[in-house]
Amino acid sequence: MAAAAGRGGGPRRTTRVGPYELGKTVGEGSFAKVKIAKDTRNAATCAIKVLDRNHVLRHKMVEQIKREIATMKLIRHPNVVQLHEVMASKSKIYMVLEFVEGGELFDKIVNSGKLGEDEARRYFHQLINAVDYCHSRGVYHRDLKPENLLLDSYGALKVSDFGLSAFSPQTKEDGLLHTACGTPNYVAPEVLADKGYDGMAADVWSCGIILFVLMAGYLPFDDPNLMTLYKLISRANVSCPPWFSTGARNLIKRILDPNPHTRITIAQILEDEWFKKDYKPPHSEHNEDVSLEDVDAAFDSSENTLWRRGERNQNP
Ligand code: ADP
Ligand code: MG
Repeated sequence: MAAAAGRGGGPRRTTRVGPYELGKTVGEGSFAKVKIAKDTRNAATCAIKVLDRNHVLRHKMVEQIKREIATMKLIRHPNVVQLHEVMASKSKIYMVLEFVEGGELFDKIVNSGKLGEDEARRYFHQLINAVDYCHSRGVYHRDLKPENLLLDSYGALKVSDFGLSAFSPQTKEDGLLHTACGTPNYVAPEVLADKGYDGMAADVWSCGIILFVLMAGYLPFDDPNLMTLYKLISRANVSCPPWFSTGARNLIKRILDPNPHTRITIAQILEDEWFKKDYKPPHSEHNEDVSLEDVDAAFDSSENTLWRRGERNQNP
């Protein structure tokens, strides 16, 4: 697939990447831009995450990232943002994603305040379904936080960035948390302590913080001073606001257990009485015909890149 960014040559100078026409930027992460795009073959809308190729290659994590992206292509779940394909130009990597148009879940909280318990539980069900599905395929999020929870036009929750934590500044060379680039409020104590950790238990912790925030409208552990914040998180001394039901309190306490070995597991969450109310187990689709050639090609640092092939096709 050719990816010749900026070469459209049409009167409106729309940027094209392969068959996609890039539109406006809809989001910006720590080192990626997300743009809305149109697939000219069928006029479908998608989102394209644009990463700096050299940045990725420079981090010598190509194999890991390639593996994670390949796994992401195999992931198909109604509550996980779908990765359609991966393309590359000389300087950029383009991840073509399902477009999720309803914005971030937490903008909803910011605009209209905390959610009632039933509504919070509906989102929590979807979050747990997504996380459970990905874990069962060996994919951990490691960076679950508000900006990675999107809503589609029907109000369904879609988790973005699953399996892409290798791109996240949080897990760079030294393995330490790079707080300047993001908030540690959602990070499990054992991750902060940097002793090596279990991705499953760490994701469960972050889900607990998210549930708390949905129902409280504020963070369980927060302090402008990072050292103080780290201490609050490691002590995990959580106090729930008076409007939380007993069932919700009990579940949150079992999730926000600072010891990852005794922390509740997803299997146990699925058995929890508070959780089980109105719960509908998900149906997941099967993946046929997923090609991983594009992933290999996008990260191929030799001369034989997608971009080269595209160039040759255009200028025979
Ligand atoms: P980063 O990994 O660098 O943090 P993200 O993938 O989280 O970047 O994207 C940044 C922002 O772009 C998100 O917070 C969200 O608002 C928007 N965004 C990301 N993916 C999509 C998508 N598939 N559809 C619509 N908006 C998206
Ligand atoms: Mg993100």
